[in-house]
Amino acid sequence: MTPARFHAAPDVVVREGGSDRPDWRREGVCVTWTAWPADPWYPDENATSTDPVKRAAAWAKGRELCASCPITKLCLEDNLAHESGATYYRHGMRGGKTPLERARIAESRRRKAQRARKAATT
Ligand code: SF4
Repeated sequence: MTPARFHAAPDVVVREGGSDRPDWRREGVCVTWTAWPADPWYPDENATSTDPVKRAAAWAKGRELCASCPITKLCLEDNLAHESGATYYRHGMRGGKTPLERARIAESRRRKAQRARKAATT
């Protein structure tokens, strides 16, 4: 079982190679972004602030843009798959989720799979 298959939600197909395949990524809103140097997917240090208001504000624009993206679910699943390695560094807004939110999703799925395996053996 590959990490991609392990993490993929049932209604999203993440192909082998994931984000290394440029075909679907070209559809991303972030790919056609032209308002540089602003980069809403990599906000400033307020994104990691312990102040929830500052943190939410830092991620707001990226989250809004991801919500309007035609490949949000695919992007999220692809990133979850690529981030499944223990040493992978989660960075930036992906699929409308912050690094912390993606880590929580991955952990939730890991626990769910663990419970399912345990239930299957009892
Ligand atoms: S969901 Fe967000 S990060 Fe992913 S391709 Fe779309 S705009 Fe980019």
